[in-house]
Amino acid sequence: MRVFFDPAQRLHAPVAELYGGQLIDPFESPQRADRILDAVSHLGTASEPRDFGREALTRVHAPDFVAFLEECWEAWAAEGFAGDAMTAAMPPDRREAHCPSHIEGRLGYFAFSGESAITSTTFKAARASANTALAAAEAVAQGAKSAFALCRPPGHHCMHAQFGGYCYLNNAALAAQAMRDSGAAQVAILDIDFHHGNGTQDIFYDRADVLFCSIHGDPDRAYPFYLGYSEEVGRGAGHGFNHNFPLPEATAFAAWLEAFEAAAGHISRFGAEALVVSLGVDIYESDPQSFFRISAPNLFEIGRRIAQFSMPTVFVMEGGYANDELGANVARVLTGFTG
Ligand SMILES: [Zn+2]
Repeated sequence: MRVFFDPAQRLHAPVAELYGGQLIDPFESPQRADRILDAVSHLGTASEPRDFGREALTRVHAPDFVAFLEECWEAWAAEGFAGDAMTAAMPPDRREAHCPSHIEGRLGYFAFSGESAITSTTFKAARASANTALAAAEAVAQGAKSAFALCRPPGHHCMHAQFGGYCYLNNAALAAQAMRDSGAAQVAILDIDFHHGNGTQDIFYDRADVLFCSIHGDPDRAYPFYLGYSEEVGRGAGHGFNHNFPLPEATAFAAWLEAFEAAAGHISRFGAEALVVSLGVDIYESDPQSFFRISAPNLFEIGRRIAQFSMPTVFVMEGGYANDELGANVARVLTGFTG
C-alpha cells in the first residue's frame, strides 16, 4: 500500500474549538497526523505529494469558495480581530442570502457550522491535505492497488461551497473526482467515519457517476445533525446513488456490519471501477465523539471486509480523536485490508 503525507498539513493549528459552550483545545490537532504516521510506518515510507494546483480544487468546489478560503485570514487580520477567524454569524437561509463584503459575514456565508477556526496557515495546510488525497488517487489511477492518504485537516464535512466540522476542502471528493478524470467511469465512496459525510453527499448529490454510501451515528443524536438521514437518496440524475445508514446510540459491531453489508451490496451492484474510503476511526468505542461499540479487533475486520471488494482503493483519513489509540486503530484497518 502506498502512503502519502504532506508535512505542511501540520501548519493548521487553531488555538481553540467551540464545544459545549467553551473554547477548548481542538480535538483535531496536528499531533493526530504524527501519531498516525508513526503507526503506519510498517506499510512503507510516506511519499510527499506534488502540488496539483488550484484548478484541481475547483473540480469539486465553487471557485468563489476557494478564493474565500485563500483570502480569509488576510481580510480577518485587516479588520483588526485578535483571534483566529471564527464567527457566530450565519445566514438565516443561505439559498436567499446575500454574500456580504465584510469578512465576518463572508465567514458565516461560507461556513455551515461555527466550531472550526481559520488561521493564517489553514489554507496552506488544507491544500496540502487535498494534495495528499490527490496524490493517493493518482498512484491508484496509475496502477497501485491501494493507497493511504494521511490527510488532516480532514475533509468529508466540507461541502461544495461551505466549510465546517474541522473540514476546509473535501479530500475524499477530490480523490473520487480525480479517479473519474483519469478514466474510471464510475467511482464509489464508502464513508465509515462516525459522522455523516454531509460534504461528500452534497458534492455528488446530483450525480450518477459517483455512488456515495455513509454509515454513521444517527444525525438526530450526532453531528452534523441536519443531514445524513436515510431518506436522502440523491436528486435528479443522482437519485438512487446516495445511501445513508444512520445507526443509533450503543450500536454494536454486528449491527454496524449489517449496515456495512447493505452498503457493500449497493457498491457491488453499482459496478464501480475504483473505491474511495473515507476512513474515520472515531467509530472506535473509546473515542470521545463515538457512541458505537466497536472494538480494536473490529477495526481489523472492517479492513478485511473492505479488501473483499477487490477494487483499486484509496483510503482518505478523516476523523479519530481517541489519541492514545488513534495510530494503532488506523493501522488496524489498513493491516486488515492488506492482510
Ligand atoms: Zn468524524
